[in-house]
Parts: sequence; structure tokens; C-alpha cells
Amino acid sequence: MNDTGSKGMNNPEGRSKNFIYEIIDDDMKINKWEAKVHTRFPPEPNGYLHIGHAKSICLNYGIARDYNGKFNLRFDDTNPEKEEQEYVDSIIEDVKWLGADFEDRILYGSDYFEQMYQWAIELIKKGKAYVCDLNSDEIRSSRGTLTEPGKNSPFRNRSVEENMDLFERMRKGEFPNGTKTLRAKIDMASPNINLRDPIMYRIVHEEHHRQGSDWCIYPTYDWAHGNEDSIEGITHSICTLEFENHRPLYDWFLDQLGVHHPQQIEFARLNLSYTVMSKRRLLQLVKEGYVDGWDDPRMPTISGYRRRGYTPESIRNFAEIIGVAKRDALTDIALLEYAIRDDLNKHANRVMAVLKPLKVVITNYTGEEELEAVNNPENIEAGTRRVPFCNELYIEQNDFMENPPKGFHRLIPGGEVRLRYAYIIKCKEVIKNEKGEVIELRCSYDPETKSGSGTSTKKVKGVIHWVSAKHAVDAEVRLYDRLFTVENPGADEDWLSKIYPNSLEIINNAKVEPSLKSSKPLDKFQFERMGYFCVDQKYTTKEKLVFNRTVTLKDSWKK
Ligand code: ATP
Ligand code: MG
Repeated sequence: MNDTGSKGMNNPEGRSKNFIYEIIDDDMKINKWEAKVHTRFPPEPNGYLHIGHAKSICLNYGIARDYNGKFNLRFDDTNPEKEEQEYVDSIIEDVKWLGADFEDRILYGSDYFEQMYQWAIELIKKGKAYVCDLNSDEIRSSRGTLTEPGKNSPFRNRSVEENMDLFERMRKGEFPNGTKTLRAKIDMASPNINLRDPIMYRIVHEEHHRQGSDWCIYPTYDWAHGNEDSIEGITHSICTLEFENHRPLYDWFLDQLGVHHPQQIEFARLNLSYTVMSKRRLLQLVKEGYVDGWDDPRMPTISGYRRRGYTPESIRNFAEIIGVAKRDALTDIALLEYAIRDDLNKHANRVMAVLKPLKVVITNYTGEEELEAVNNPENIEAGTRRVPFCNELYIEQNDFMENPPKGFHRLIPGGEVRLRYAYIIKCKEVIKNEKGEVIELRCSYDPETKSGSGTSTKKVKGVIHWVSAKHAVDAEVRLYDRLFTVENPGADEDWLSKIYPNSLEIINNAKVEPSLKSSKPLDKFQFERMGYFCVDQKYTTKEKLVFNRTVTLKDSWKK
């Protein structure tokens, strides 16, 4: 064994250490599991993955990578009632997109049903499991409370032979749903309620999305999960804190069977402000039409963030920034926004787009020219492009004010402003419609002030973006705000009433520079001064460009 146990050695990328790395370092030192590390991400395919799952994926995959171990994608598909192939497909796509490499190991808990069944028989034979005829209400009410012990089931002392016979007949489908269960025989007086003869199998006559009608008894999470981990040779079974009280049961099952016994380690789940994270609630938002599908860019799902323009790198960095703790907390969504801004700032080219156009006619300019624009000041290698300029332009409506407050440095009647990469213009005339709304500005330009090559020393305070009216491309732009009006909507019974009704604003007459004409779905840009945007993959067509705002700019180049 090489000395991988020394702290820091497993952090080639200087990643922050957390308590789980410390546990693994200690395991490595004593050569536990021959100093191998094998983790897994075990989603139940009953919904799309969200940013909380991303935290778990990054953690599990990151550990496998950092210790030269392995990482499995395993579907915990033990409940036929809520699971669907659509979810399986989306989960595979999302885990791949995040960059967590499971190689060829897409595994299914349901493929182990036969092994689990054999192990259940083993426990029956050892007198450690019994068939119980109580229904679910009766089981619940005989379980006791935190302060009172539970009551033994009247079926607890069935003979091994009777249990074997009944369990086989359960499997054969002789009994209707809910009439019998297989329960572990542990201790109805245990202070840990999870150990009070927990259910291992239920009768559910239902087609399974993968196993068809082969089974009508299905294992519970507690029975299945440790078995799945054990069968796959998982070393560190990392899960969220709500399973801490289930660990004694996880351990009990594997100890009774005497099989490979991974170590369960719990960490705090991610909760993000201004959103909900429960799959049940996300499903409700989708089913009841509050959002436009699981990949609505306001959803905290991985597919939603992807469509919105987030990158895998930004999500991985976010997971790194928030770290791993032992105590539940609410993470500020601003941290996620910081992570994506930080990534796009380095990689997204700058372009000019006018979201709410106001026409400007430059009365003393004739002809046309192309001006040089820098693609990304953060990355000189991104080069430059040429943007067309002529006597008719669009500027942003709110870059002009007739009666400006003090400190307004953009265009005002008689005032001057610099057009980015172009000239200084002066507002000579304001044209209004019958309603008194400003519909056009007549301006003059100063040819001596051309960006980069002008001879004038004239300076103005404001710099604004623009597009050539003649060359502009029409676009629809979708601006997203937080989906909820309160910080922790999940804590509220009435959480649906906390949906922010204006969380989506659609602008359908934006004007973007012509270089964007050839952009492809998911291409990412910074619209100068307006934020980061990406081409929408759902609604963009040959005829129509649709952009999603990924995130606003914290600061713009115009101070
Ligand atoms: P449910 O079990 O209610 O359907 P779930 O969100 O726990 O929902 P799973 O499919 O069981 O969904 O989750 C797969 C893995 O992701 C589990 O290991 C779970 O611990 C982890 N996980 C789920 N939600 C979060 C979260 N918010 N933060 C971190 N990890 C999470
Ligand atoms: Mg779960």
C-alpha cells in the first residue's frame, strides 16, 4: 500500500478537506477494505435531479476520484408505484452532464431482488424475520412512541416453517396488497424506533418499470439499501442526516447476514433559499403547471439550470464552496449565482443586445462601417469581432432620461454619451408619440471620437451599448427572477401561495447584434451591461432566437 493516508495527498486540486475525507484517511491508514474506496449515488427514479442531488453527486464522485476509487450510479428502484423510465433517462443525462464518471456502472437495485429474497430467507431461517398479518395501521399503532415501547406482534413467534411457507406464498402472489409483510425480528422496546421490528417486504401487485410483473413483493428502503451497497462492494455509503437513526438498522441487517459491510456516513443535505427542494413539491409545480416542466429555468433541477445556462463547472464549484457539514442549514442562493457568474465571466464572450429598444437616428452620419469589439476582456485569446454601425441604432430605453436625477451619466436632452466601441453622440432632438412617450432620438456624432483611433480628447462619463437597427437580429429574451417571494418557502404549509407571480418576464422585441445569428442552443454570452444569457434549447427555432437570462451582472464595466 502506498501512503495515501497522509493528509492532503488525496487532494490534487487543493480541494477543501471535510470530515468525510478524515474518516477515509483513517480507513486508509489501517488498510480497511484493502485501502480501496468505492462510492455511489443512489437516486430513486421518481423525479428529476435537483441541486441537492448535485451536492451528493459531487461529494461521492469527488471522493472516488480523489482516492483513485470507483463511483457507481445506482438506481434505488424498489418502489414500482412512483418510478418511471423518463426519470431514469433524465438522471443518467444529468449525472453525465455534471461530469461524474460512473464508467459503465449504471446499476439497478431491482436487479438484486433475487439476492435480497435469498437473504431474507436466510434471516427467516435464523429466526430473525417473520411474516406478520397486521395491516399498516396496526403496525404503526403497535410501534410505540419515543417514550413508550412498542407491542410485540401476535405473529412474532411463528415457526420458521410457517414463515418460510407464508413468505414463499407472498412471493407467488397468493395474498392481496397490504395483507402481510415480512418484518425483521429485532426489539419492540428498542429506544430507536427504527429497530422495532421494521418491515422488510410489502405486497404490491404492480408492474415494475424494469422487472415487469416478476415480483409482487417489494423490499423497503431500509432492507434494500444496505444490501445494494453490500452487493456492489461499496466502502463508504454516504447519505443525508435523516438516515442517521437508520444506521443501527443498516448495520444490524448486514451483521446478521455476515456479508460485506460498508460504513454509512451522514452529512447535511443542501437547502437553498428562495426555492423548494423536495421532489414531491417539485413534481407538484410541474404537474399543476406552475412552471414549464422539470427543466423550467426557474426550477432548482439540474436540467433547469442547464437550460438556464449554468455550466457543470459552476455547479461543481458551488458544491466545493458550500462544503460538507454535519448540521442542516439554509444556503444562500446568491452563492450559486456567484459561482456561475465567476465561471461565465471567464468564458462567455461579450456581445451587445438591446432588450428594450429606443431608436436613435444619427443625423450627420452617412454610410456604414464595421467597428472592432473585444470578445472577452478577461481572455484576450477570445479575440475581437466586427460590429456594424450606421445612422440608425437602438439603445436601451432606460439609457435615456428626459428629466434625469442627479448623477445620471447616460443620455439626456442636449447631453453626450459614448457608444461602446464607437463614437460620442449628442442628443439634439426628442421625438414623442401622441401619448407623449419618447419614440426616437435625433443625435449627432463626433467623428473625432472614434474608439481606439479618434483624435479628440473629449471625455464623457457615460458609456452605453447599442446595436445597428439595420443589422440587428430580433430575439425573444426571458428574464427570470426567484420562484418564491420568501427565503424558506419549504417551511411554510401554504408554500404555493409564496410563488412569485412575476418570476418570468418575456420580452419579445429585443434587438441583438448580428454575430448572434449563428448561435446554437445553450451558447452562452454576456450581454454587455445586462447580464449573462444563453440560447434557449426549448423554444429557439430556425426563425426565432430565444435567450434565457442565466444571471444578472453584479457589476458592469460602466461604473
Ligand atoms: P425522496 O427519497 O423523498 O424521493 P430524495 O431527495 O431523498 O427524495 P433520492 O433519490 O433518495 O431522493 O436521493 C438520492 C441521493 O441524493 C440520496 O443519497 C440523498 O441522500 C441525496 N440527496 C437528496 N436530496 C439531497 C439534498 N438536498 N442535499 C444533498 N443530498 C441530497
Ligand atoms: Mg431518499
